Amino acid sequence: MERSFRVRTDGRSFTITAVDRDDWTDMRDPCPECASRAFDHVSTSGGRYELRAGAVVRRTDRWNADRSLHTSCRNCGAVLDKHPAYDLLFDRDGDDERAASSESV
Ligand SMILES: [Zn+2]
Repeated sequence: MERSFRVRTDGRSFTITAVDRDDWTDMRDPCPECASRAFDHVSTSGGRYELRAGAVVRRTDRWNADRSLHTSCRNCGAVLDKHPAYDLLFDRDGDDERAASSESV
């Protein structure tokens, strides 16, 4: 399933999308399109950090901010999982409304 969201900021507007396929769960599953088992994957990493004896220690037992943002097949390019925040971080390339209005003129 793909969902679209319209984002407006500073007079600009663009669309971000989320992908959540019913036929793929995680990287233990082969690509449903081509059966490949090689993926490109982006995730967040974070959590609670504390200073202990001069060293910064990550406490994953307290709060784990790891989230999958994007997974695609390296062989066929199928997008298998995508959080809408991925577009805000990597793929935002224009103004959909500005592009649409200039196309209609
Ligand atoms: Zn594939």
